[in-house]
Amino acid sequence: MIVPIDYKDKKVVILGLGKSGRSLAHSLSNAGAQVFAWDDQEKARDAAQKEGIPLKDIETIKWKTIDHFLLSPGIPHQYPAPHPAVTHAQMAHLQPICDLDILWKSHPRARYIGITGTNGKSTTTALIAHILKESGASVEVGGNLGVPVMELQSLDEKGVYVLEVSSYQLEISPSLHFDVCVLLNITPDHLERHGGMEGYIQAKKLIYQNSTGEDTLIISVDDLPCLTIYEVLKTSGTLKLLPISTCKILPEGIYVKEGLLYEKGEFILDLKNFPALQGTHNWQNIAAAYASLRSFGLKVETILQGLKSFSGLAHRQQIVAAFENITFVNDSKATNAEAVAKAMLCFKGRPLYWLLGGRPKEGGIESLRPYFPLIEHGFVFGEAASSFSLSLGQEVPHTVCQALKEATEQAATLALKKKKSNAVVLLSPACASFDQFKDFEARGEAFCSYVQELTHPYESQVRRAQCSP
Ligand code: ADP
Repeated sequence: MIVPIDYKDKKVVILGLGKSGRSLAHSLSNAGAQVFAWDDQEKARDAAQKEGIPLKDIETIKWKTIDHFLLSPGIPHQYPAPHPAVTHAQMAHLQPICDLDILWKSHPRARYIGITGTNGKSTTTALIAHILKESGASVEVGGNLGVPVMELQSLDEKGVYVLEVSSYQLEISPSLHFDVCVLLNITPDHLERHGGMEGYIQAKKLIYQNSTGEDTLIISVDDLPCLTIYEVLKTSGTLKLLPISTCKILPEGIYVKEGLLYEKGEFILDLKNFPALQGTHNWQNIAAAYASLRSFGLKVETILQGLKSFSGLAHRQQIVAAFENITFVNDSKATNAEAVAKAMLCFKGRPLYWLLGGRPKEGGIESLRPYFPLIEHGFVFGEAASSFSLSLGQEVPHTVCQALKEATEQAATLALKKKKSNAVVLLSPACASFDQFKDFEARGEAFCSYVQELTHPYESQVRRAQCSP
């Protein structure tokens, strides 16, 4: 556990008592801070109280006496409207920060690799951490992925923290300083929380907010927002840049052409040999991981060795089971249209039974219209069902379902009935999960269990893959 001793005797408000808020409360209490914790949800407060975390209603706090204000990244501090506690804190001249900021300030001697982007953060973070661990380095991995950072081990200058960082976290981590940072891609997402696309781009740019000429930014140049950032930074020359691409030849960077990875024009590796990382989106993730590790000083052979044993992450185009003519794929983490587009491309040419729905995001599935001809049949469910049904319209045959269970059953039944070979039943929802599930993991696990129930009677004929994270 991280124990930030600088917080001894400080008065600290913690707002948001999910997993990371609770672990912050324990770390700060262990450091000798006086903690005042709160959450608007009674259930979360009860859970915190059971763990002995001291609660205090934010309306009764004497804000002028508080030294630090720790905010859960999920709680709005600006858009669509600041939480009332943020307004109180601002009046007391307190800047909201999150656990990542505390980690950095308490362990500034360790080295840090930070990964952000709209999609691919978790995969790239896990891949970098895996390769580093395989190389024998002392590594802790977390952030927006896995355990809260306060539960990581303390590292000294020989250790590396590999952190996945969301736009929400970046906005409230003013001290974070990465030796190597990665900006994978920027496409529209979370626009409501950032007041629009410009605000979202600004938040992503914070990944290099404290970078100096000693540090490296790995940046994709394949989408317009990232390309623009790259060009501006190149002109200013303020930090080292290493561009990556999966669609352009970069004589000075790392690029992928027809599945082959090149570094400064020299052939390195055939990426088509990695079944756990299929598709151009994963080639982008591999290129980013490779570039960061090269910047970090790893030898090519060491990176290739680690890459070979990476098994991928659950809930990202994860093959769950194959039965008769159907492969069931869990892509529950595809919560935005861009991620779904990548899945569609991966299964192009195969009869696609697409399960989509949940809590819709701005823009819905309109940007996926060019992919509609790839769909055999859609199954819409959850809060988005009626709006997605309107978008699919006459163009894509589809069925409106109540929930994911019904959608899975109907999709399997239809795919079996049609008997088209190589069919794919794909959960790639283009939505947040919160209307019917706790999070994307719960949604993906539910899908796996429905597939298990459906195929169980035919066990001897089913080829299963593991469904654990
Ligand atoms: P994140 O942590 O940014 O959400 P993940 O690695 O968890 O990213 O992947 C989330 C979704 O995005 C999955 O559906 C996955 O297939 C897709 N995806 C992964 N990498 C990329 C990428 N580089 N570009 C676009 N989509 C991607």
